[in-house]
Amino acid sequence: MSVTLNDVHSRLNATKVQRVVRPACAEEVAAAIQDAARTNSAISISGGRHAMGGQQFGAGTVHLDLTALDQSQELDPDLGLLRIGAGAAWPAIIRASHETGTLERPWGIRQKQTGADDLTLGGAISANAHGRGLTRPPLISDIECLTLVTPSGDLVRCSREERGELFSLVCGGYGLFGVIVDATIRLGPRLRLRRHVDIIDIDDAMHAVWRRIDQGFLYGDFQYAIDPKDDSFLRRGVFACYEPVSTEEPPSTEADLDERQWLSLLHLAHTDKREAFRRYSRHYLDTHGRTYWSDSMQLSTYIPSYAEFLARALPQEGPTSLMITELYVPPEGLMAFIASARAVLRATGVDDIYGTIRAIRQDHESFLPWARGDWACVIFNLLVRHTPAGIAPVKAAARALIDAAADLGGSFYLTYHRWATRSQLLRCHPRLPEFLAAKRALDPACRFQSEWWRHVDRLIAEPL
Ligand SMILES: Cc1cc2nc3c(=O)[nH]c(=O)nc-3n(C[C@H](O)[C@H](O)[C@H](O)COP(=O)(O)OP(=O)(O)OC[C@H]3O[C@@H](n4cnc5c(N)ncnc54)[C@H](O)[C@@H]3O)c2cc1C
Repeated sequence: MSVTLNDVHSRLNATKVQRVVRPACAEEVAAAIQDAARTNSAISISGGRHAMGGQQFGAGTVHLDLTALDQSQELDPDLGLLRIGAGAAWPAIIRASHETGTLERPWGIRQKQTGADDLTLGGAISANAHGRGLTRPPLISDIECLTLVTPSGDLVRCSREERGELFSLVCGGYGLFGVIVDATIRLGPRLRLRRHVDIIDIDDAMHAVWRRIDQGFLYGDFQYAIDPKDDSFLRRGVFACYEPVSTEEPPSTEADLDERQWLSLLHLAHTDKREAFRRYSRHYLDTHGRTYWSDSMQLSTYIPSYAEFLARALPQEGPTSLMITELYVPPEGLMAFIASARAVLRATGVDDIYGTIRAIRQDHESFLPWARGDWACVIFNLLVRHTPAGIAPVKAAARALIDAAADLGGSFYLTYHRWATRSQLLRCHPRLPEFLAAKRALDPACRFQSEWWRHVDRLIAEPL
């Protein structure tokens, strides 16, 4: 019986699949693939279903929900390696990493995505996700090896040494090369970190980042002001950074803001942006000097009922959600990019509900790297009304932001939306044609499909 699935966050990807299968072990994954081959069906794969570009669904496919593959399987307390099922979400991965360590030698994850926690390891590897490390490349750098069920249903191990090219395709491969059933993560020492908070202007942001890196800070981001009527728009922000400290002080384990406080801030972000930033800054300044664990500090309060909250708070708007878009620019281009972004958002009237600027180090390992340089990452959470007239300006703004980043030698993240044009895809992701060719070579029957793959494959194949 067909089922309609949708992504959790934007809810803009309703897709009717043939049926949903939830395998509980690698053998059941292989059996599902062989079964699909017998009926000549394509397969789509999901974990936490947070991707917003349709990477996890394909109309008419047999859909594999991988979330039951969440067991931790092997721990190496000496090397800090954790092998865990690809369906495990970050809170479970963090708990398992604690079991890997000892009191004297605790281990923790080095990075995860921010903004949501119910994202799986398989989804994070497939997007080659990043967190808010100041000097970290994307997640592939934390993956030692993985187990994959291939399009023909075979179970294979891949790592840098064993099937190196397949490893580089699967990390950042958007589920197109097989099903990741488990992966071994390289953990890092679980550290106590002290938070430092400054309110600074963007003019100083890159220097402030370099200063903090020189001082040994490990994580940080800049959360900018969102009121387009104000001169501080995208320019002034809360710069929160984290440095390792040796203290016996018990780290804070509470969420900085609980769900009620978040909802109140989000409401203000829609109705009184200046006040939202004022309250947010004051809250953050109050937490200056607090200590946190390096792993749990990366967890977030996510409000899955956000769409319902918006519907209640702003009933006149009709269905809405937030679409994330993330742009990369070389650090020396950041000021110019921000000037362009201010102009784009003001001209289109698109509402940016919140956003941050982070840092990423170049990825030298994945086949289709999105982090092609040491870049500044600028993230926008844009309000989208779910009508053609509501989507059009957000799509136009997203395209204009991509052009602004590309003109500065930068790029954009492929996991969010399918709004980039063919020339933008080719300009910012020059290995995309080779990547799509590798997909067809390794999966000639195109067993693994998604709406995102169908879209980009068609677009790239179009004659110029
Ligand atoms: C609120 C929010 C915050 C975010 N923050 C960040 C961030 O800070 N940094 C960042 O880098 N990204 C971020 N993202 C994007 C996110 O990292 C990706 O969308 C990620 O892929 C989602 O993981 P998921 O488990 O929800 O995967 P899904 O959405 O279910 O799937 C995503 C992709 O992974 C594939 N996949 C999933 N599991 C497997 C598997 N076991 N084997 C093979 N393929 C698989 C799917 O086929 C699909 O292509 C954010 C997204 C949201 C909505």
